[in-house]
Amino acid sequence: MIMDLSGKTAIVTGASRGIGRATALSLARSGAFVVINYSSSKAAAEEVKREIEGMGGSALVVGADVSDYGQCEKLIMSAIDHFKRIDILVNNAGITRDNLLARMKAEEWQSVIDTNLNGVYNCCRAVLRPLLKQKSGGRIINIASVAGIHGNSGQANYAAAKGGVIAFSKSLAKELGSRNITVNAVAPGFIETEMTAVLSDDVKDRVLSHIALGRLGRPEEVAEVVLFLAASANYVTGQVISVDGNLSM
Ligand code: NAP
Repeated sequence: MIMDLSGKTAIVTGASRGIGRATALSLARSGAFVVINYSSSKAAAEEVKREIEGMGGSALVVGADVSDYGQCEKLIMSAIDHFKRIDILVNNAGITRDNLLARMKAEEWQSVIDTNLNGVYNCCRAVLRPLLKQKSGGRIINIASVAGIHGNSGQANYAAAKGGVIAFSKSLAKELGSRNITVNAVAPGFIETEMTAVLSDDVKDRVLSHIALGRLGRPEEVAEVVLFLAASANYVTGQVISVDGNLSM
């Protein structure tokens, strides 16, 4: 299988850390020009750029809060100004504000919906016009979660947003198929990043007991599947691919 992205431009939201960082590095290793988006970790994003340049690739760092439509438009335009085209959008930026619903504040609900669901709408909506104008197809990959398939206690906000991302991806796949733009969702299980590092050992042990492979996943293992969808998988669209070691939540 050839994973050659030479001459293609990819935008990865939330690429300063975790799964987004691993994805940016993986796409760059396959030859893509990569736009590294972050919201607050500028130094970390610059470090990812240095790593890409260190392996002979090209990257651009753009700060933008994906929950703000205007900032997403600027993110997309910066990518096109710099690299002259856009081929791949990976909507990865995400946050958690876990709480049982009885205690969940409106802000905890809203901020997760704003970043994890509205952020995907904002970037897809903003990328669509330039992508269609190019008339050369494209790839949109949205990072969902197994919580969006099975639900998860304490994560009604997060699961609702990620379930929404899955339904959104399937709908967009139907809208854009005739333009040779594929839209897929990747649903990670329990991956070792800063997002899961804050969980207690008790919670981690409980989750581990439900993972067939008996260990947490690594960001690179999610990035491999994103790369497959970005660089190969020509006839795959509207799908949700779980990367979870067979975690049944
Ligand atoms: P992470 O280590 O916490 O990194 C989150 C990334 O998202 C950071 O780069 C962060 O940027 C960025 N971000 C957050 N809010 C943003 C905003 N409003 N605008 C732009 N960027 C923003 O998380 P992760 O574990 O790698 O998760 C990445 C994605 O995978 C998320 O969508 C998450 O829901 C999903 N996921 C993760 C797991 C897991 O077990 N880790 C499981 C299922 C799904 P800054 O550094 O600038 O804050």
